Amino acid sequence: MKVSSEIDEFKDECGIFAIINNVEAANIAYLGLHGLQHRGQESAGIVTMNDSQLYAYRRLGLVSEIFTPEALKKLPGRTAIGHVRYSTSGESSISNAQPLTVHCSKGSIAVAHNGNLTNALTMRKDFEGLGAIFQTTSDTEVLLHHISRSDCNDVDAVVDALNSAKGAYSIAFLFKDKVICARDPNGLRPLCIGKLGESYVVSSESVAFNLIGAEFLRDVNPGEVLVFSEDGQMASSQPLHSARKSSCLFEYVYFARPDSIIDGVSVYYARKRMGAILAEESSVEADIVVPVPDSGMAAAIGFSERSGIPFEQGLIRSHYVGRTFIEPQQSIRNFGVKLKLNPSRTVLEGKRVIVIDDSLVRGTTSRKIIDNIRKAGAKEVHFRISSPPIKFSCRYGVDTPTNEELLANQMTIDEIAKYIGVDSLAYLSVEGLKRAVDENGGYCTACFNGDYPISYEDEGVKLQLRFEGL
Ligand code: SF4
Repeated sequence: MKVSSEIDEFKDECGIFAIINNVEAANIAYLGLHGLQHRGQESAGIVTMNDSQLYAYRRLGLVSEIFTPEALKKLPGRTAIGHVRYSTSGESSISNAQPLTVHCSKGSIAVAHNGNLTNALTMRKDFEGLGAIFQTTSDTEVLLHHISRSDCNDVDAVVDALNSAKGAYSIAFLFKDKVICARDPNGLRPLCIGKLGESYVVSSESVAFNLIGAEFLRDVNPGEVLVFSEDGQMASSQPLHSARKSSCLFEYVYFARPDSIIDGVSVYYARKRMGAILAEESSVEADIVVPVPDSGMAAAIGFSERSGIPFEQGLIRSHYVGRTFIEPQQSIRNFGVKLKLNPSRTVLEGKRVIVIDDSLVRGTTSRKIIDNIRKAGAKEVHFRISSPPIKFSCRYGVDTPTNEELLANQMTIDEIAKYIGVDSLAYLSVEGLKRAVDENGGYCTACFNGDYPISYEDEGVKLQLRFEGL
């Protein structure tokens, strides 16, 4: 028996949630985090404020496992911030689980951050040179050091810290008498505001509002800072340096839940349009369109509608398999993939099949899926991907393989087709993807074309640390 792990995908980043002035703050934060669980499954935490004192509960694991009724009872107060995490910066350990908490010159502060700062190591080295001691390896902690050293009031201290930071952040700070939320000037990661009765709620994705019965008010604008007082008033300002809006396009392709709306665009309908435009760009004669569930589902519906080729569920997903599974013996080929996605012979046998998936990262899983589809009797297999080829690593809070590990960085499309064993392969174009989301929006396309909207200042420090053997 051996334990194997199939990692052939981009890893979701993190999700944040805040609720202000509600008697059920911790319970609602728990439900909100449930709605954001897809954004991070390694750890989760909630911090509440009560009588100027922070109450924190953070653990490794899933939201439903961590927050038992007993745990939630330990979180008093009318204001809470929460976080689900997949480690993109700093190792996966309980000390890096968020919200981070500190006691400093500004009193007790907690912070929940989605994104990745591209100058965090540089800032950290500077602070360490001044004698600062860090508790975590997370990039978020540098902001707390910045705030604690500031002579300004809380809001100005946060704005100064964010103005000195570069990179991606949708972030919530909990102070003794207020919550401060902000979205980076490029708007790389999503953030939106809702209202639950008289209470404001803030979330990485609008789907969390659906779950708690809150009304969606609007997206937080890139560069906007929101201050929520403890009595539930909201003040908005736009103090962060302006930049070219460059929201993450991959949120629409892959990360966000289809039932979310980001920057005014429904993720589900954007995915359907990706499939429809993919059909315009690269349809082929075939008998059926089959999604790789659940990731390729909406795009396959769009592809089928636009091409007129019938949609069929030729791959059936098991919902009872985790990311790691016990593999009984090597001799059952592709056992792991089959356990998750079983090809249906009754649907596939003798058919020319167009398979739709949302992305192709290393290609190892796709290769096995294609092999299984052929073994189930498909006559031809044409693979269509509803995003452009991923050629470059993300620097803004998404855990991606290195450029060298990305298939599309190393091979031509014909070579990839041969490697995964399909009769033909085509990707959605970058222009097609932008058109599917919103052609007038400003988007980051760096993982497709290397056009990074923010420079990576930590590159030099990383090389230096490597040189020093750290
Ligand atoms: S590089 Fe790709 S995954 Fe990263 S923010 Fe840009 S579009 Fe999103």
